[in-house]
Amino acid sequence: MNKGEKIFVAGHRGMVGSALVRCLEARGYGNLVVRTRDELDLMRQGDVEKFIVEERPDYIFLAAARVGGIHANNTFRADFIYENLIIEANIVHAAWKSGVNRLLFLGSSCIYPRDCAQPIKEEYLLTGPLEQTNEPYALAKIAGLKLCESYNRQYGTNYVSVMPTNLYGPNDNYNLLESHVLPALIRKAHEAKIRGDRQLTVWGTGTPRREFLYVEDMAEACVFLMEQEVTDGVFNVGTGCDVTIGELAETVIRVVGFEGSITFDTSRPDGTPQKLLDVGKMRDLGWVAKTGLFEGITRAYEDFLKSHHS
Ligand code: GDP
Repeated sequence: MNKGEKIFVAGHRGMVGSALVRCLEARGYGNLVVRTRDELDLMRQGDVEKFIVEERPDYIFLAAARVGGIHANNTFRADFIYENLIIEANIVHAAWKSGVNRLLFLGSSCIYPRDCAQPIKEEYLLTGPLEQTNEPYALAKIAGLKLCESYNRQYGTNYVSVMPTNLYGPNDNYNLLESHVLPALIRKAHEAKIRGDRQLTVWGTGTPRREFLYVEDMAEACVFLMEQEVTDGVFNVGTGCDVTIGELAETVIRVVGFEGSITFDTSRPDGTPQKLLDVGKMRDLGWVAKTGLFEGITRAYEDFLKSHHS
């Protein structure tokens, strides 16, 4: 990537997209194009094609998506599959049609089979049934990476897919019914501390294992891949370490300073028992995550305090 080339970040107001913009700007990429949802509705095929033909970016980071935690995925199943399929199909097809040769598609680690061997290698894709709570979203994301692969095979484009583990950080969604576990626990612990509660309720049994990556590290991994001129394939992005939800909750309450105890609401679903990525492919290219969990949660909590409780 050359510093002056035009880069379109789709979804720049989201957690990943906004981290990508910060990362690109910090590295001296000055020719960024972004559009808010009001300016460009990525669900409208004609509008997306017109925009990409007119702007003709050299690179596209496709970070626009409908995302959410276990409850949102399980409840808004139609919205999650429909919106993600349409957005990715519109952008990938328009990119190819207007001659954009380089694109990076953001997927998710939930694309892998529910009960596959851990840590999860990229090659385990489509080797078994998916987790039910987020199957519609996972299928849309699988379609997205297959779109990239198929355009590469048929048309010779260079579209790459990255599969991040659970992400957290600035601009995360802290709405308790929509969010992922980490932002939910930050908010719950903070509010419990302020109210002086004795207990904090964590969903499920606390035993599922998850891996968490600070979003700034994710953005760096994406820019790194584009800079390597990697032209095809799927790349897992994570830390390579996981914790149980119970351990995560302990860490969050330590960062936040909540002194009560943790209880588990086992009427809530656990979801997939473990989701730990094998990050060997990225490591071999020379990229590893920098931010430890305690440090990342500390920074995320600072951001939460600034944006939600200033
Ligand atoms: P998943 O990784 O797709 O399962 O999505 P989540 O990040 O939403 O949930 C991860 C795990 O954390 C699941 O086992 C949830 O039951 C558990 N969990 C515990 N407390 C919460 C909470 O307050 N919100 C959410 N979203 N998950 C929670």
